[in-house]
Amino acid sequence: LREITVDASSSEHAETLTQVVKSLPDIKVIRVYDRTFQIHQGGKISVEAKIAMANQADLAMAYTPGVGRICNAIAKDPSEVYRLTVKGNMVAIVTDGSAVLGLGNLGPEAALPVMEGKAMLFKGFAGVDAFPICLNTQDVDEIVQAVKHIAPVFGGVNLEDIAAPRCFEIESRLRKELNIPVFHDDQHGTAIVTLAALRNALRVVNKSLESIRIVINGAGAAGLAIAQLLQRAGATQILICDSRGIVSTNRTDLNTQKKAFAVEEAGTLVDAMRGADVFLGVSAPGVLSREMVQTMAPDSIVFAMANPIPEIQPELIVDNAAVIATGRSDYPNQINNVLAFPGIFRGALDCRAREMTMSMYLEAADAIASLVSPAELDREHIIPSVFDDRVATAVSSAVQKAARKDGVATR
Ligand code: NAP
Ligand code: MG
Repeated sequence: LREITVDASSSEHAETLTQVVKSLPDIKVIRVYDRTFQIHQGGKISVEAKIAMANQADLAMAYTPGVGRICNAIAKDPSEVYRLTVKGNMVAIVTDGSAVLGLGNLGPEAALPVMEGKAMLFKGFAGVDAFPICLNTQDVDEIVQAVKHIAPVFGGVNLEDIAAPRCFEIESRLRKELNIPVFHDDQHGTAIVTLAALRNALRVVNKSLESIRIVINGAGAAGLAIAQLLQRAGATQILICDSRGIVSTNRTDLNTQKKAFAVEEAGTLVDAMRGADVFLGVSAPGVLSREMVQTMAPDSIVFAMANPIPEIQPELIVDNAAVIATGRSDYPNQINNVLAFPGIFRGALDCRAREMTMSMYLEAADAIASLVSPAELDREHIIPSVFDDRVATAVSSAVQKAARKDGVATR
């Protein structure tokens, strides 16, 4: 009889590994060690005081009676809340737990670890204080109301992991009704980073956005936002497919958002892919075949971004596509939203933007793309690393510039 410890840390297959080891004859598992669970004990973030609390005098300023004068100042001039409280650097990460990562409708409690992680990224990459707000409702009116009610504390709202098409209405209503920027990362963060990567991929193959045929597979939060941003960037031929094929005007099952992108062409993904220059997958694992890629135009570009398992494994098409990207860190060209959202909010908060605009997104995408120098640019290097510390600053400046131009910056 041997006694062993299983180290299942951070493995995608931790549970399987543990089960297999446990099932081996003559082996007694005495301890399963999973570092991923270990680091989550008690959560990943905390709230800390920024000033000293050593004596009565400190307390009398930070809290009553001193703080009373601050309250009065803000009551007299509400814009002072930005200068005298956390608001100006604080973002609400709001979810209803209905589309947690790619895992589905897990509810608000199960969404919390993701939102805590997001808060870590906001702070770590751009110094933004962000706080998880996991709402115990999936009703559009209730979500909108709840966010409006908590808005006084926050300088911005990052909507996260809210299922489509509900997310579209929530975002557009909050944009109208709040005077702070609202950003749905699963839509716009994805669209910005995708556009950045696509701009550089097109440089590699020497094609222009205006002249290419683009297939977007997936007409959910990510797919529709990508389509919208690409159109604004100048793309003219976009075909969107969902689980029933090409989003076509002859279909009767389309929601309003899909209808806006419906084309006359009809058929399946196989039809859409024939002659396409670009495939952008934000759909489901394994839905693209090598044969479909072989029918694309020469020097094709394939972004297979379904997470964690892409639409096609890159190794199947290395000889068929000129540029390949995924959402994963273990292949070249990782399309990761963390390249966008920290800098987007850094910029929006710093210029106190009233709202987010399309040109802020376009400029952010260009800023990300431009960090890959012509000397570095090749088929395996179309996008900067998420650890490139120039990214958030570059995105933030681009966003502020665009906000000023659009007249939405208030500082
Ligand atoms: P979503 O709102 O649920 O949308 C999913 C879309 O995919 C829906 O339109 C759905 O079609 C479509 N779909 C499902 N199976 C399909 C199939 N076999 N063929 C064609 N379309 C299919 O999800 P989302 O937030 O947009 O995300 C979609 C995927 O992209 C996820 O895997 C996500 O992890 C990934 N993603 C990656 C990144 C990144 O790498 N940076 C960023 C965002 C999202 P119906 O409308 O017909 O149901
Ligand atoms: Mg998300």
